Amino acid sequence: MHISFHGAAGEVTGSCHLVTAAGRRILVDCGMFQGGHELHELNRADFGFEPDEIDVLLLTHAHLDHCGRIPLLVKRGFHGQIICTDATRDLARVVMLDSAHLHEEEARRRKHHGDRDAEPLYDTMDALDSLDRFGPPADFGKPIRLWDGARATFHDAGHILGSASILLEVTENDRTRRILFSGDIGPQDRPLLNPPAPPTTADIVVMETTYGDRDHRALDTSVAEFHEAVQDAADRGGNVIIPTFALERAQELLFFLREGMEAGTIHPATRVFLDSPMAISATQLFRRHPEAMKPEVSEIIRSGRDPFKLPELHFTRDASESMALNRIRSGAIIMAGSGMCTGGRVRHHLRHNLAHSDCSVIFVGFAAEGTLARIIIDGARSVKLFGDHVPVRARIHTINGFSAHAGRRELLDWHRAAGTPDRTFLNHGEEDARHKFAGALKDTKIEMPTLHQTYSL
Ligand SMILES: [Zn+2]
Repeated sequence: MHISFHGAAGEVTGSCHLVTAAGRRILVDCGMFQGGHELHELNRADFGFEPDEIDVLLLTHAHLDHCGRIPLLVKRGFHGQIICTDATRDLARVVMLDSAHLHEEEARRRKHHGDRDAEPLYDTMDALDSLDRFGPPADFGKPIRLWDGARATFHDAGHILGSASILLEVTENDRTRRILFSGDIGPQDRPLLNPPAPPTTADIVVMETTYGDRDHRALDTSVAEFHEAVQDAADRGGNVIIPTFALERAQELLFFLREGMEAGTIHPATRVFLDSPMAISATQLFRRHPEAMKPEVSEIIRSGRDPFKLPELHFTRDASESMALNRIRSGAIIMAGSGMCTGGRVRHHLRHNLAHSDCSVIFVGFAAEGTLARIIIDGARSVKLFGDHVPVRARIHTINGFSAHAGRRELLDWHRAAGTPDRTFLNHGEEDARHKFAGALKDTKIEMPTLHQTYSL
């Protein structure tokens, strides 16, 4: 029995883990590498295994860094089944199709600039082919028999809609091992999702360490800060630009805005624009999956109400509608991607609003080193957008408590609930975070896999 790590080994993207037992091969996640050029190029390299030899793919959740290489896996010969929750399948469809579209666009752009051999990593047809590979959905807590001697149980991970930790039980030569994959683990207090289900005991744990080195601020403090920032901008008369991630964060913000309007901390007539086709699709999918949300939120949906409904909410799917927002000079809240301002519509909104002192920009998520979001957060006096130098005169707010990832203390609690595993593999974290986290674990052998490393179990 073996386990090998083909992504997220010493960094936070590209999750892809392979378990081999009794001659069968089980893949857990098949995510995209994201970040600088080097990581980006890793996506084109060999997987480190033969895609056509994989029997089944278990998918923890629909973030691109966990599902983004599935169309490539299928393109290169994978013909087994993909198993995940119903909500994950719906979200993964949106994410993979969007990704295919971006790869096609990139190849087209490179061809236009003289690279005649430019080919997309995969295209829309590959993404559509992957959709045919999804099997019946997994329900939380109900074991799924993969074949004699292998079964998988999905547990709510509370990270994004439908996200799961997966317990894999595999038998080889009459010896059964319980291998627990954390997936990405959410924090305890989320507005829409249940807290992560405590894991079952396991012999082997493979766990994420994104925030293995720090804790987050409390959610209610951050929500209050968010409401204050929005109202402050409204009082000054300018627009509010919120760079946002399309999955989960955008829906959480709509939910917080609705709460603020109902409580009277935000004026209910404020116009809110969700200017992101993917976030709009995801919002519609949330309404279809009350089973994946907190009881109090699913109750809102089941009673026919809408947890994301605001009096003046506008979905701007078309590019022309998005461009029309550039003419609005005051009183609008515009939510657009990408969250780190590395691309997408938000860059146009920043170009039109950053220079105005009555406007505000509210950052509500993680901003990696070197991204435009980080440059603005760190206090740049002017930034370059579409070839122009744009002075930063808008008021900048950074709200830190909206993480979709558990903090260090919550990760430690989660690991403790898995009993005393023989071995713990730490993945999905920057080197510093996973080393600091490793220092806090007791009574387990700690492994820190590097890319393509294989271990005997
Ligand atoms: Zn994730």
